[in-house]
Amino acid sequence: MECKALVTNIQRFSLHDGPGIRTTVFLKGCSLHCPWCANPENLFPYPEEYVKDGRKGIYGEYLSCDEIYQEIIKDRIFYDQPDESSELGVQRGGITFSGGEPLLQFDVLEPLLQRLKNENIHICVETSLFVPEDKLSTALKYVDLFYVDIKILDESRCKNVLGGNLKQYMSNLDSLFSSVRSVVFRVPIIGGFTDDEENLANLCELVSKYRPVKIELIKEHNLGKNKYISLGKEPLELNSVSDEDMEHIKEKILEITGFAAEICKI
Ligand code: SF4
Repeated sequence: MECKALVTNIQRFSLHDGPGIRTTVFLKGCSLHCPWCANPENLFPYPEEYVKDGRKGIYGEYLSCDEIYQEIIKDRIFYDQPDESSELGVQRGGITFSGGEPLLQFDVLEPLLQRLKNENIHICVETSLFVPEDKLSTALKYVDLFYVDIKILDESRCKNVLGGNLKQYMSNLDSLFSSVRSVVFRVPIIGGFTDDEENLANLCELVSKYRPVKIELIKEHNLGKNKYISLGKEPLELNSVSDEDMEHIKEKILEITGFAAEICKI
């Protein structure tokens, strides 16, 4: 019997999930529980009922690799177009896998990844990198561009706040960079969680050590609020980080590492 992946959304014409015009496949299930998560419908690895505007629905649908392929191939024409404006060198549009933590389902998706690779379609992944080593190994065979989150870099706070094993993350970072892949660091700047001096100093250390192709600073937002409500959950009220503070953090990274980070509002 063919294995199926648990998908919450296949979003066409994505412009913020990698170079060019892309289709983003959102996979359900995550290894972390970040308090600021904007995609609460993707946390758990099983379908969940929601209620929106008085109507019931289900987050998550099991799809075969072929079913996903038939959907994403509809926009094939866009994937081959080079993105001359990309700061990552000229890259093409293509497919991005996001979540949740997409690498957790990469074993199931391997036939699809192989098919995309055979057809020379560019593959991106947005990952927290808190995954067992073998999941990363599968990704390394197929992924052209990695977007890797940098969140809380203190071991005990990482465990207590996110539920993550920082040693596993660090070891995966080493494996990733030793395979010389294109890697963008994405750093959510969340008031009271990731914006303290110690965390920023640790971030600068990682940037200096690994020298990613790009660093994106993500300003916190409340896009997930309605999804929390639809799941009957209370959204967290985040401490807002001002535009001025974002600029200050950007300058600090530049001063310490020589890297010009980009401030993004997704
Ligand atoms: S890693 Fe991403 S998807 Fe998972 S809980 Fe954190 S913010 Fe949400």
